Amino acid sequence: MILPVVKFGDPVLRKKGARIEEITTEIQTLIDDMLETMYDSNGVGLAAQQVGHAKMLTVIDVRDAERPSTLEIDGQSTPVESIMPLVLINPELKPLGTDEAGGEGCLSFPEIYADIKRKESVEVVALNRKGEKISFRCGGLLSRAVQHETDHLNGILFIDRMDSETKADLKPEYQAIEAATKAEIQKKAKLKK
Ligand code: ZN
Repeated sequence: MILPVVKFGDPVLRKKGARIEEITTEIQTLIDDMLETMYDSNGVGLAAQQVGHAKMLTVIDVRDAERPSTLEIDGQSTPVESIMPLVLINPELKPLGTDEAGGEGCLSFPEIYADIKRKESVEVVALNRKGEKISFRCGGLLSRAVQHETDHLNGILFIDRMDSETKADLKPEYQAIEAATKAEIQKKAKLKK
């Protein structure tokens, strides 16, 4: 099922996700719905917060992206496709290397794109959708996507990572999204009364 994507201004985007202790059938369904929603929106990643669930869960798929990614498992270079689609539960990151600026968008900020500095590679430890522990190191777009999505799980948004000049330039645009989202939430609350 395709889920509505939460936009900036909804408080759930600022919530830190709860750790997932058990992979229930509800979580499995949420994972399937998040993958379907991400593909429908042509995104490379989607965090649970973006569909209204403050949980430590994100899905990623970089296979259709133009920008390259690298992957190492146990120190061995591995095809990125082998772990796609990637489901990360309770991910823990260790960003490595130097800062690299690269373009980013976010499904919760339609039409907003900016260069964001992130570490060039990252070591990841997480659970997959079967609850098995996985660990890998990645670079390129996959590293960027993992860092962007894991930020979401901690209530951090890409506007928080922009340099002050870029953030100031984009302020009217993201404030307009915020205002529209808040108006929508108020309207729904009134309808419930
Ligand atoms: Zn995002």
